[in-house]
Amino acid sequence: MTASFHPPQRLLLGPGPSNVPERVLAALARPTIGHLDPLFVGMMDELKALMRRAFRTQNALTIPVSAPGSAGMETCFVNLIEPGDTVIVCRNGVFGGRMRENVIRCGANAVMVDDDFGRPVDPAKVEAALKANPGAKALAFVHAETSTGVESDAATLCKLARDHGALAIVDAVTSLGGIRLEVDEWGIDAIYSGSQKCLSAPPGLSPLSFSQRAVDTLKARKTPVQSWFLDLSLVMAYWQGEGARSYHHTAPINMLYGLHESLVMLEEEGLEAAWARHRANHLRLRAGLEALGIDFLVDEAHRLPQLNAVRIPEGIEDAPTRRRLLDEFNIEIGAGLGPLAGKVWRIGLMGASSTPESVDRVLAALKSVLGR
Ligand SMILES: *Cc1c(COP(=O)(O)O)cnc(C)c1O
Repeated sequence: MTASFHPPQRLLLGPGPSNVPERVLAALARPTIGHLDPLFVGMMDELKALMRRAFRTQNALTIPVSAPGSAGMETCFVNLIEPGDTVIVCRNGVFGGRMRENVIRCGANAVMVDDDFGRPVDPAKVEAALKANPGAKALAFVHAETSTGVESDAATLCKLARDHGALAIVDAVTSLGGIRLEVDEWGIDAIYSGSQKCLSAPPGLSPLSFSQRAVDTLKARKTPVQSWFLDLSLVMAYWQGEGARSYHHTAPINMLYGLHESLVMLEEEGLEAAWARHRANHLRLRAGLEALGIDFLVDEAHRLPQLNAVRIPEGIEDAPTRRRLLDEFNIEIGAGLGPLAGKVWRIGLMGASSTPESVDRVLAALKSVLGR
């Protein structure tokens, strides 16, 4: 007979998942009730309000997609983009490339604005692309590029989209809860995040929000949404059907308890206090890495505090070193992605993993495995 699975207690300092606090794990273990049970429906209403406050939005359509961040990305594109549309897609890392895939699979035309991996999206190039493509339906970009550790200037990019009559579609998988994010103030039309990065719930849910402009765009579609499961006009009947919620799919009930608890914890800490904590622990890590002679990939002005991409020191092997951190120190850090594979490590300080103790542990472990 196969025995039960008992994972070890790791310190998760990669690009996600981050460590899940005991309180969230306890919430996941609470009794499963029906997804149309009035008490569950009440919890869902609280969850939507918690998400609105975390996103800083009044958007009525603010729900968790029942699948990971990638499904949140796909939800934005399949609902807003129709065959023949043009979308300006910013690519300064791996996730911008995935946005392009989504646009093409919608039968739309992806106009790429490329920046080097490790650099932020250049607003001047975006403005030029918007001018060159006057009918563009949307501008899509990644706020916090987890593949490179770069923050792009979301407020400026959204304003450019607005000025050119394009919707702003924003990936906030790694930014929500870790750095400033203002959905209404910046004029974001469609945004998605993930449960397992700075929110520190397990993976599997994607908080998502659509502005009224985005909802109107969805309502004005000429063609049906390509995906039945991700069609928000159907999903809304479940999440928003006041009084008369209709069955669409069985909500991942216990996962939603977990997300609810993680957002309650975020609210107890305070959103701005959480941003400040991520920044303080990043600075602590930076000081320690500098002392070890390890350099960052990204210029200081554009570094994400929750995802630190650092150059693998000369003469040090990538995979065996990360394996030693895991086996000997129970610490997971991330490898480089795409063109940065073998060149950088990605040290995540996300959510509950962003503590002074985590920083001190990874620095001590690195010092030991690098023999410094
Ligand atoms: C992690 C991540 C995703 C994908 O989320 P999954 O939950 O892995 O599907 C998308 N975009 C960014 C920026 C991410 O960091």
